[in-house]
Amino acid sequence: MSEKVLVEHKRVFKFRIYPTKEQESFLTQNCDASTIAYNSALGYLKDYHEPLTKQWKEHCEKEGVEMKYHEYLKMVDKPKLTAYDAKKWFNNDFKKKEGNEWFNEIITAGTANSILDLDKAFKNFFRGAGYPKFKQVRRFPKAFRVERNIKTDTGAKLHIKDRRLELPKFKKIFKNYLIKTKVSKLDTRVGDKYYSLEDGVTKSFTVSATSTGKWFVAINVTYLLPEVKPKTFNKDNSIGIDAGLEDLLVLDNGTKIKNAKHLKKQEKRLRINSKRLSRKKLGSKNWKKQVKINARIHEKIANRRSDFAHKATHELAYNDSYNAFMMEDLDLKEMGTKKGYRGKSVADAGLGEIRRQIEYKAGWAGKTVIKVDRYFPSSKTCNCCGYVVDKMPVKKRHWICPKCGTRLDRDINAAINVKNKGLEEAKSKQATENKKKKALKKA
Ligand SMILES: [Zn+2]
Repeated sequence: MSEKVLVEHKRVFKFRIYPTKEQESFLTQNCDASTIAYNSALGYLKDYHEPLTKQWKEHCEKEGVEMKYHEYLKMVDKPKLTAYDAKKWFNNDFKKKEGNEWFNEIITAGTANSILDLDKAFKNFFRGAGYPKFKQVRRFPKAFRVERNIKTDTGAKLHIKDRRLELPKFKKIFKNYLIKTKVSKLDTRVGDKYYSLEDGVTKSFTVSATSTGKWFVAINVTYLLPEVKPKTFNKDNSIGIDAGLEDLLVLDNGTKIKNAKHLKKQEKRLRINSKRLSRKKLGSKNWKKQVKINARIHEKIANRRSDFAHKATHELAYNDSYNAFMMEDLDLKEMGTKKGYRGKSVADAGLGEIRRQIEYKAGWAGKTVIKVDRYFPSSKTCNCCGYVVDKMPVKKRHWICPKCGTRLDRDINAAINVKNKGLEEAKSKQATENKKKKALKKA
């Protein structure tokens, strides 16, 4: 009997929360505490290491020797203080100083996680990289992260019930300790099955606030599930996808997925308001007002784009008619820098993000993504007879094949070519694998 292979699937459930005024001030305190903890721990380590690194460099120069900093520490019999030592110092000394008592009131794991973020930075520092940098306390987005495997006074538990969220310490502090949320569904599809949040292990959660005063929670969940076997595919249940000039995505069956509606309108609004901001006196009352307005427009545009991309890619990946997706392996950087050539619309559409989403969502659904060579002339080849034209001006929406006379829609034709190319590549890959298998059997 063969054992089932379990694979880790990671998901993030992110949703908006609506804390009360009191809860909000507590959350803000936690975000600030997290940054202050990070900075103080960094300061503590810097105070210790700075004079020592100086001595180490002087020693190397004077003696004409080459040695690593950690080797020098060993020689002079000095401990190699790390983020873990800083965490101890923070809990045993820093918190006990006068005026720092409030750190005992907040979610302890948040500050601990933030200090341990320094660990990686200091590992690099010991290898010769520069000192990690201090963070600004008032900067947005504010956030604090709690990892569940770190033991805390309250166990850092997280409860969601009837769209209400309970965070650690809340029950202790607030009479109405549940936070209102805007969570619609807490499940995820892997292969053909749905899994709820509770089916997985909550690894960590992050509470964050945007500059426009909105609060979010992101929960990182890991599922250990049987491997999803890729679904078989053929010509009929594969789909070729091309990035259109005017449309976001064009499918080989003729479907055109348009860009997010009203985006242009918002962008125009942003341009007008950016001009307004530049005319106001820096730091003045009116300037501050305008900054807020602009931040809100920025946020609206980003949200629209993101919502739209997620919806479009979800619909594609979980459409039962498609088991494989063929896409061009485009170099988006190259496209973005070529003036006049798709540049702006590519940046707008966040095409790279869309392609990334199709890839991982298709993977979750047990479907295949085939990326075809980006130098393959998908727009210039006639899908009926294979004739390749020399030039294809960007503005040309339709063209007539000089060889077979077919009238072609530029983008749909490209999508069909991408699909055929993808199927061809999949076939040759399969043939090579079969050959390998046969050779192995013979041997
Ligand atoms: Zn033709």
